[in-house]
Amino acid sequence: MRNDILAELFDFQRDTEALAQIAGRLGWDQETVMPSGAAGQRGDEMAAIEGVLHARRTDSRLGDWLSALEGADLEPVAASKLRLIRREYARASKVPARLAAEIARVTSMAQGKWAAARAADDFAAFVPVLSEVLRLKREEGAALAAGGDVYDAMLDDYEPGMKAAELEAMFAEMRPRLVALRAAVLEKPAPAALSGTFPEAAQMALTRKLAEVFGYDFSRGRIDKAVHPFSSGSGSDVRITTRTSEDDPFNCFYSTIHEVGHACYEQGIAPDYALTPLGRGVSMGVHESQSRIYENQLGRSEAFTGWLYSEMQTVFGDIGVESARAFYAAVNRVQKDFIRTEADELQYNLHIMLRFDLERALVSGDLAVPDLEAAWNDRFKADFGYAVPRAALGCLQDVHWSVGLFGYFPTYSLGNVYAGCLHEKLRAEVPELDAQLAVADTSAATDWLRGAVQRHGALMTPREVITQACGTAPTAAPLLDYIEDKFSALYDL
Ligand code: ZN
Repeated sequence: MRNDILAELFDFQRDTEALAQIAGRLGWDQETVMPSGAAGQRGDEMAAIEGVLHARRTDSRLGDWLSALEGADLEPVAASKLRLIRREYARASKVPARLAAEIARVTSMAQGKWAAARAADDFAAFVPVLSEVLRLKREEGAALAAGGDVYDAMLDDYEPGMKAAELEAMFAEMRPRLVALRAAVLEKPAPAALSGTFPEAAQMALTRKLAEVFGYDFSRGRIDKAVHPFSSGSGSDVRITTRTSEDDPFNCFYSTIHEVGHACYEQGIAPDYALTPLGRGVSMGVHESQSRIYENQLGRSEAFTGWLYSEMQTVFGDIGVESARAFYAAVNRVQKDFIRTEADELQYNLHIMLRFDLERALVSGDLAVPDLEAAWNDRFKADFGYAVPRAALGCLQDVHWSVGLFGYFPTYSLGNVYAGCLHEKLRAEVPELDAQLAVADTSAATDWLRGAVQRHGALMTPREVITQACGTAPTAAPLLDYIEDKFSALYDL
C-alpha cells in the first residue's frame, strides 16, 4: 500500500521536475536566442507554465500522499527524496497564494525600475519600489518563519539549515584579516595589466577549449553568449553562457570557467537522480563552491595560468606581459574598484559582508530603505578605505534586492568558504595537482570533486556534503590561509 503511494508520489514529482526543466529552458532561450519581438508572448508562456508548476506544488494530493507516508521506514535515497518533497510542499503551503502572486507581480516590475534608477544614478527613484519589495518579502519571511527568525527563514530558501548567527561568527573572523591584507596589498605597486588585441571570435574559440579542459560535456551542453553569464538546467541538458569584451579577455575566460564549475556540478550528479528532487545542486552555497574552486583555486593558480599564458600568446600574439609570473600577477591583480562582480578573490568577500549586514538591518527594520545609500557608503568607506562616488557604483549595482533576493548574498561567501575547505582536502588527495594543472590536466581534480561532492546532488544536506567530502565541518580558516598565502607571495608582503 505504502509502496503504491510512494510510486504515485514519485511519478507525480517526476513530471513536476520535468516541467520545471522546461520552464528553465524557456528562460535560457529568452536570454540567448529568442527573437526580440517574442518578448510579450514569452511573458504569457512563462506565466502559464509557472501557473502549472505552482498548482502542482500546492496540489492537495501531495498533502494526502505525504501524510499517508508519515513515519514510513524507507531506504536512504527514497527517504531523501521524500524529505525534499515534504520540505517544498511545506514551504508552498505556508505562503498564501495571494502573497506569492503579489511578490511575482511586484518583483517583475521592480527589476525594470531598478535598471532605470541605476542608469539614472538615482537612488531616491528606487526607494518606493524597494520598500514595497521588502515589505512583501518580510511578510513572506514571517509566514515561513512561523514565529522563528525571519532572516533565517529567508536564508533557508537558498542554504537549507544555515543560520545568520553562524554566518555572523564566520564573517567576524574573516573581515579583519581581509581588511588588513587588502590595505597591505594596495600599498604595493600594481602589477601590469594585459595589453593587445583580443578579437571576439578568438576569445570564443579559446573559451570553448577552456570549457573542455575543465571537463564540461558538450554532448549534454552548449555555450552561447548572453549579457550576464549563467548556467541553466540539470542532468542531460546543462547550458552555459559567457560574454566577450574586446579589451578584457579574462572577463570571458574566467566567467566561462566559473559557469563550467556550476554546469559540471549539474552534469556530475548521479544519472539515477535525474528528474527527481535529488537531481540538482543541493544549495546555492555548495553550487558556488564548485564554480569558485574551478575558477579560482584551479583556474587562477600559478600552475594553470602558466599554461593559459602560452595559449594566449599562441592565439593573440603579444599580450603585453613578459613572463608567466607577470601573467599570473595580472590574472590576480588587486585594484581599487567598487563592483562586486569584478572583484578579485581578496576583496570579494568584503563586498558580501557589507550586503549581509545591510540586508539583515533592512529585514529587521533597524535600517530604513531611504537610509540605505548612506549606510552603504559609510560601510564601504570603512572596509575599502575610499568613498563611493555615485549610487550606480554603490547600492544600485546589484539586481538582487529588486527581485526580492534577501538572504541570497551570503551564499556567495559561503561558496568561497566551502571551496577553501574542498581545496585543502583536494591538495592532500592529489599531491601532484600543480604538475597536472601546468599541462591543463584537470581530470584528477574534477574527478575528485565529482566523487566527493557533485554525484550526490541533493542527497545530503549542504553541511553534510561538505563535511563528508572534507572529513571535517566547514570553517573559514582554509580559505583565509589560502588567500593570505597567495596574495602575500604575489605582492611580496
Ligand atoms: Zn556562480
